[in-house]
Order: sequence, then C-alpha cells, then structure tokens
Amino acid sequence: MRNIAVLTSGGDAPGMNAAIRAAVRAGLSHGLTVWGVYQGYAGLIEGNFKRLGARDVGGIIQHGGTILGSARCTEFQTEEGRELAIHRMRGAGIEGLIVIGGNGSQTGTYALHKMGFPVVGVASTIDNDLYGSDVTIGVDTALNVALNAIDNLKVTASSLQRTLLVEVMGRKCGYLALMSGIAGGAEAVVLPEVEVVPEQLAVRIQDAYERGKPHVIVVVAEGAKYNAEGLCRYFREQGLLPGYEFRSTVLGYVQRGAVPTCADRLLATRLGVAAVEQMMAGNTGVLVGMHNGEVATTPLEEVVQGVKPLDPWFLEYADILAR
Ligand code: ATP
Repeated sequence: MRNIAVLTSGGDAPGMNAAIRAAVRAGLSHGLTVWGVYQGYAGLIEGNFKRLGARDVGGIIQHGGTILGSARCTEFQTEEGRELAIHRMRGAGIEGLIVIGGNGSQTGTYALHKMGFPVVGVASTIDNDLYGSDVTIGVDTALNVALNAIDNLKVTASSLQRTLLVEVMGRKCGYLALMSGIAGGAEAVVLPEVEVVPEQLAVRIQDAYERGKPHVIVVVAEGAKYNAEGLCRYFREQGLLPGYEFRSTVLGYVQRGAVPTCADRLLATRLGVAAVEQMMAGNTGVLVGMHNGEVATTPLEEVVQGVKPLDPWFLEYADILAR
C-alpha cells in the first residue's frame, strides 16, 4: 500500500487534530503518501482531498476541532454515494481510508468495508458511546469542560441556596453526565439509560436541603426523557419544590471546542499511529480503540452492532456518594 487518506466525520471532538497529525506523520515515516479529505464523507464524494506533508499538520496538536473539517452527509448513506466516494479515491490512487469519528461515522466506514474498500476506524466522539473502545478521543476534554462549569455553578448555587440543573451533551448516552456528576459532586444525575420520575427527583432535591446542603446540583444528559429545561418546566407546572428556587443551565457546544487535554492528545496520537500500522499490516475493516489500557482492534461489524453500557459501579455509587 502506497497511498492512504484520512478524514474526520460527525461531531468534532478535541483531539481529532492530534489523531490527524499522528496518522499523517506515521504514514510519511513508512514512506506512504497521505491524503487529507475535507468535510468528512461529503469531501470524499466531491473528491475534496489534498496531499498532506509533515508541515501541513504542524501547530495543530493543541487545537480543538479538526483542520480537515467535518460534516453530516446523507448522500453517503446511499449505495450510489459510497460508490462515487470509492470511485474518487481510486481515481486519486488512494488504497486505504482512515476514518476518525463516532458511531454514525463508523457505520459509514463499515459500509465501505463491505463494498471491498480497505478502511480502519479511529474511535472519536465526546459521547463515549462507541462499542470497541473503553474511552474515545474527546471525552476527557469534554468531561473537564463540564466539570469546570459544574464547579463554578456550585459556587453560585451555594451562595443563593439554589438548585441548578446543568445540562451536558449526550443524546443517547449518559456517560458525560454520569462521570461529570460524580466528579463534580452532584446531588443527582439524570440519564437517558435510567427512567426518571420528576416527582422522585423533587423529593430527592428537598431531602438534600433538609440534610443541610446549601445547594443542589443536578447533572442532566441532553437526551434524557426530560432535559434540564423540561424538568424545570415540569416542576413549575406541577407545583413541585414549592419555596425552592431552581434554574437550568445548558452547556451545549462549549463542551466540544476546548483545547484538548494531555490525555486526549496522547490517546489520539496512539490511535492515529495504530490506525496506520493496522492499515499497513492489512488488518482492515476494524476500529482502533483502547481496551484495558492497551490499543486494541475490534471488527467494525461488531462495533456497529454493539452497545456500550454505562459502568454499573459508577451508576450504583452516583447515588450513594450524593448523600
Ligand atoms: P458523534 O457521535 O460525535 O456525533 P458520529 O460519527 O456518530 O459522531 P453522525 O452524524 O451520526 O456522527 O455520523 C456522521 C456521518 O456518518 C453521517 O453524516 C453520514 O455521512 C455517515 N453515516 C452515518 N450513518 C451511516 C450509515 N448508516 N451508512 C453510511 N454512512 C453513515
């Protein structure tokens, strides 16, 4: 194999640039030509790629986002779109593709694999909901951003004896909410994976004040049955928590674009290099991720079918530690 390409797809995650840089420089060190594809799968279909040299990926390791850009591309979900993408790559002499992205992106990678094109996925999403990697690129940074916000909000919540419902990202997966809630000392977490009964949550909030807490922080995943504003509205409409003040704060995209932490830069670097090594070894159709502290590969077929559950230990202790 002489020519490979790399792209970033789906939601941007801090550390994607470090993974691009690692893949490009590892590829060059093996004598490969490395192409950067712009705007994810959309760029693949349009033939929007260019050769990357070592200098093209200089000065990016410390930046969030992705220098290659990303996109959500519906055309790639069609057979014709993917055929065009493969045609474009073959036209440029590209023989293998590295895809840095999350669940949706790796479903696309698997689709290319099934069409006979050599691919390697790199586990990257701030949601940490990707089967095949214990931790994904961007999670550590997103957690730290959420944690800083929770720490700050706690100061205000204490001063004003207020309940603050802090909404963090996570459409289907409550990982960010659970972990930032535990690390931030939240009184409760609300997750998509666990049924929430607002009446019970209200009792819990009231109990916390009665036990002498000066504040209550509830960390809510955006994809939970009730989001932060939804819970506040429900409390108001149902007359729950009379006499108590509560507010919602939505962190939103600020969790995405932060400067990647050291952990994310190192993780992305390891995975970017490993992706090139797997490609060169002919171990394609796999996701490169981490398992028990080591780089590990998982067939994409398993990745797209697998569901990564939340750690039961953390689920159990989130309640106990909030006492
Ligand atoms: P994140 O979890 O960080 O949001 P993601 O990779 O899950 O990232 P998506 O928007 O779900 O992000 O997917 C990114 C792109 O992957 C889509 O825009 C589409 O081009 C491609 N994709 C998603 N699902 C499929 C599919 N079933 N078949 C082919 N391509 C797909």
